[in-house]
Amino acid sequence: MCGSIFTNKPKVFFDLSTFDTIKAQESLVPPQRTVQWQGSNYSVISEKVYTYNCCLLLCRRLFVIFLTVITLGIILIPRLSREWVTSFWYNKKVYLYVTPLVTTKEILELDNWTVHPLLDGHLDLPLKTLFCQKKENLPRLTEQQVTECLQSSSIKSHGSDLNVKTKVRAFLAISKVDKRLVLIDTGCGRHSETAGNLVTQLKVRGFHPDQITDVLITHLHYDHAGGVERFPNARIHVSSNESEIDDNDYLSGLGDRLNKFEFAADGEKEIFPGIKAIHAPGHTAGHTVFLLDQQLLLIGDVIHNEAVQNTYPKIAIEFDSNGAQAVDTRIALFKRAAQCRYKVFGAHTDGCKEA
Ligand SMILES: [Zn+2]
Repeated sequence: MCGSIFTNKPKVFFDLSTFDTIKAQESLVPPQRTVQWQGSNYSVISEKVYTYNCCLLLCRRLFVIFLTVITLGIILIPRLSREWVTSFWYNKKVYLYVTPLVTTKEILELDNWTVHPLLDGHLDLPLKTLFCQKKENLPRLTEQQVTECLQSSSIKSHGSDLNVKTKVRAFLAISKVDKRLVLIDTGCGRHSETAGNLVTQLKVRGFHPDQITDVLITHLHYDHAGGVERFPNARIHVSSNESEIDDNDYLSGLGDRLNKFEFAADGEKEIFPGIKAIHAPGHTAGHTVFLLDQQLLLIGDVIHNEAVQNTYPKIAIEFDSNGAQAVDTRIALFKRAAQCRYKVFGAHTDGCKEA
């Protein structure tokens, strides 16, 4: 005797009379037979076989979804990681991308500017002491925490004091509108034995230092302004908020070539069409970051080591002139960068793969 659990358009019948037999015969090939009901043919299977078939169908669909996700991941993840090397959840709300992963031979094409990242060299920084700040009432890291951050990244430390090879970068922005060649920072110049290669890097790309029309300085530390003298025809733009700007060795003798610019009330200033200076104090009083075409944010020394300061954004570095202000600036810029989806590149971040 056959019983139906459906009144209209039945899909499955339970063969009650042979249920025990079917149960005994259950296998990967389910026993079934065909019956007629209201003029149509239907397969007769047991409830367990029906459940088994449903599970099999579900597994097949899950497997297809799994394969689709894996395939999309294989296609998309290299593209994402190529563009963004580090990321983290900030306050569990905003996903922040910091430091695009580009090779030094790679070029960033923006709307009005073409940007070349240039490697000036490196500095050995003892991060154990630099991130264990004692001079202000700020949180500090232990050596173990710094070590764990570095080990979780591709950054290699060496030496007993956790000296870390920290890259020194500048950027060449080439206008697509006029002939302007703008350098953002100038590297160490003659003030370092392990850096100062910016002119060579320019020449490799087919540019001569005499061609540089403008230099934008993030701040007046030697690894950013030490090479100013190597660009004799450039106008040098520095925030008037920088302390001791009138008595600075790197800027001496510039005369009319020095432009001490002032920020508007909102802390911003358009230097050229498509290049905006943003006051980002803390590391120095006049520390400036530059936003190009609302797409690329060059953050100077807002981050000195992304493995540490992405993990602990509230940690200042020893040589921030105002650690608390530097922390506030970093968090505000992180939020803005995340919300506006800026590409972010630091002067010392390690996101560049060296070619
Ligand atoms: Zn620096």
